[in-house]
Amino acid sequence: MNTAINLKPPVDAPSFDPLPQRRSLDRLLAQLDQLAENSSQLIRKPFGQFEIEGRRYSLPRYIYLGPKGGGDTIRIGIFATIHGDEPEGALGLSRFVAALEKNPELAKGYCLFIYPLCNPSGFEDGTRHARSGKDLNREFWKDSAEPEVRLLETEIWTHAFDGIITLHADDMSDGLYGYVAGAVHSENLLEPALREAEQFLPRNSGGEIDGFAAANGVISLGYPGVLRAPPGMKRPPFEITLETPQKAPLHRQVESFSAALQTILTEYRYLMAIAQNI
Ligand SMILES: [Zn+2]
Repeated sequence: MNTAINLKPPVDAPSFDPLPQRRSLDRLLAQLDQLAENSSQLIRKPFGQFEIEGRRYSLPRYIYLGPKGGGDTIRIGIFATIHGDEPEGALGLSRFVAALEKNPELAKGYCLFIYPLCNPSGFEDGTRHARSGKDLNREFWKDSAEPEVRLLETEIWTHAFDGIITLHADDMSDGLYGYVAGAVHSENLLEPALREAEQFLPRNSGGEIDGFAAANGVISLGYPGVLRAPPGMKRPPFEITLETPQKAPLHRQVESFSAALQTILTEYRYLMAIAQNI
């Protein structure tokens, strides 16, 4: 009996260079696009045109106009995937918008400007940085040449948001946390948002997160050059950055983002109502 294993010589790999695998922008945005197609409240409005190494890009943008509220319309900008390897935020936004479609009253009084994919080339490549090699989230308000940053800065100027929310996923954190800046009540919005998101994931309770002092998952310092309102505004918007633990199950991160965003809308509307009655 011949027990020798018949080892064939290894077959040479085919000798062509496969095209680099790019992730599909369309697939990431498919759910939002579908929602926009069937919605009377959500409009798809991509903007800006730029080129990186011969490929053309624009930045995806969706506008959700909630039912009319009592006072002035509140404008909020929500930004995700400025780090290309953090698609969790874009997916969280899809989930959030689906929740608004089911229950538009959640967005009563709001006009939401939604930017689910701020770094398309980084997303395609699966990298934190854009294809230029730059971390776009360190480039804001320093006269950056990065086209994505210039386009987003123009949006932030033009719409004069009452609130700016950015979504990130952190592969070093084992829990939810957030940064606050801008208006004094930012912290009063982040705290209930984290509490609501804790239905799905634990909070990072460490005294130091990402190199900053933290209390109950709240950090009030941040890196220079992050996506935020221009410095020195007289009436700065509230600014909140939400971070999910990237190694946690994806659906839990998505639900956390959606729950946190819904809570911020509810809490801020309430704060504004109180302010207008004083
Ligand atoms: Zn990030």
